Formats: sequence, structure tokens, C-alpha cells
Amino acid sequence: MSISSLEWTAAAACRNGHREVFFPPAHLEHREERSAREELAKRICKDCPVRLECLDQAVSNREIHGIWGGLNEEERRRLTR
Ligand code: SF4
Repeated sequence: MSISSLEWTAAAACRNGHREVFFPPAHLEHREERSAREELAKRICKDCPVRLECLDQAVSNREIHGIWGGLNEEERRRLTR
């Protein structure tokens, strides 16, 4: 992957952090915690100007963790079926 293909990340709404919102914690995460965390992440993604680029990158790389382009792992799997 070339560096230029990641230029979109400069415009990402999450570029200033929030990793803990987009990815699961190291400890066991209960369903309610996960739902609340993912809801927060999706709210950030909703108005992100590079949402499609982000989603495309995640699908292309078969990212198995986290919220990318406003979708979680299961939602991305469903999208590609
Ligand atoms: S769509 Fe969401 S995860 Fe992707 S760059 Fe934008 S804010 Fe970050």
C-alpha cells in the first residue's frame, strides 16, 4: 500500500484519538459496554468526510476488529457477503 493511498486519513474525524472508542478493550467487554462504545464511535463516523475511504480500506484489508467507516466487524462481513 502506498503512502498516498492513506492521504484520506488526514481528514478523518477520529484523527485526534478516540482509539478506545473504535476498538475493543483488552479486557472482556460486556454486550452493553460494547453497544455503548460502538454507538459513540458510529456517531463520530456519521459526519466523517472520509467515511467511504475508511470503509473501503477496512474491507480491502479484511480488518477484523473495530469500527471502520461506521460499521463494526459483523456489519462489514454482511456487507461483503
Ligand atoms: S469513518 Fe470513522 S473510523 Fe473511519 S476515519 Fe472516519 S471517524 Fe475514523
